[in-house]
Amino acid sequence: SIVVTGATGHLGRHVVEQLLEKVPADQITAVVRTPEKAADFAERGVRITVADYNFPETFDGLFTAGDKVLLISGNEVDRDRVAQHKVVLGAAKAADVALLAYTSAPGTLTAALADDHRATEEAVLASGLPYVLLRNGWYHENYTEQLAPVLEHGAVVHAAGEGRLTSAGRADYAAAAVAVLTGEGHENKTYELSGDEAWGFAEFAAEVARHSGKEIVYTPVSVEAYTGILTGAGLPEPVAAIFAGVDVSIEKGELAILTGDLSRLTGRPAITVAESIAAALKG
Ligand code: NDP
Repeated sequence: SIVVTGATGHLGRHVVEQLLEKVPADQITAVVRTPEKAADFAERGVRITVADYNFPETFDGLFTAGDKVLLISGNEVDRDRVAQHKVVLGAAKAADVALLAYTSAPGTLTAALADDHRATEEAVLASGLPYVLLRNGWYHENYTEQLAPVLEHGAVVHAAGEGRLTSAGRADYAAAAVAVLTGEGHENKTYELSGDEAWGFAEFAAEVARHSGKEIVYTPVSVEAYTGILTGAGLPEPVAAIFAGVDVSIEKGELAILTGDLSRLTGRPAITVAESIAAALKG
């Protein structure tokens, strides 16, 4: 079976949808916390298994020898995500799965957010399982799903200076994962996944202006000011610090990765940020 954890998340849903186009539904297993959220997948014949990273026993006997597993990293940043991921790795190791793919972060990223990914990568390697590290770059959607305040204030506010990044859409990261899970010869490879072009927030603002017909400018601010804006908007302090840390990394160029790995795996150019903005403003 091809087993996908986090299958009811944004990325996981794309992965399962795209797997359904390539392999029979009964060869796909979705690991979920809340089966109700996966009812549409179940109706289409996907096997649903209920497990939670916080309860190791729920992963006992979940995998079978020969499974290809996609471990989608968790999103509970207030928890020990490394311990959570090790629960999945332990069960995969016990079953002697054929492949363990993990959605990681770019190798260049020094922001605090990357620490859990680095530690999980070490655990993946230590497991001795055939692995693939899918080092996903930043998502377009981190910005294109947050356009309401941009349109309201006529400003894209970030603490990234003139930094540039090579984000890609979740659907393309999912397509890369599907290529690895359904293809051959990916064992023990590390892919640095990203879009095909670098962009900065001034260009992003211009693109939003072009598609919305509104005047939108980029307002670069300090890390302190940015953190204050985010907490002022209701984000918890630790989460605001994570986002501000990412902007610092963007300014340093740590999210400007151009290996071509993503479009090589998917066999097509990546969806651009401009296309993603256009789609978001149409919707
Ligand atoms: P989502 O937040 O949409 O999905 C996270 C998934 O993890 C959900 O399916 C969630 O389950 C599952 N999950 C969380 N905690 C547990 C748990 N304790 N047990 C079992 N499942 C759990 O994130 P995305 O799909 O957009 O992204 C996937 C991952 O990539 C994120 O979790 C995060 O690690 C990372 N990420 C990457 C970003 C980037 O720009 N590259 C940006 C943000 C996150 P449920 O559906 O039940 O909630």
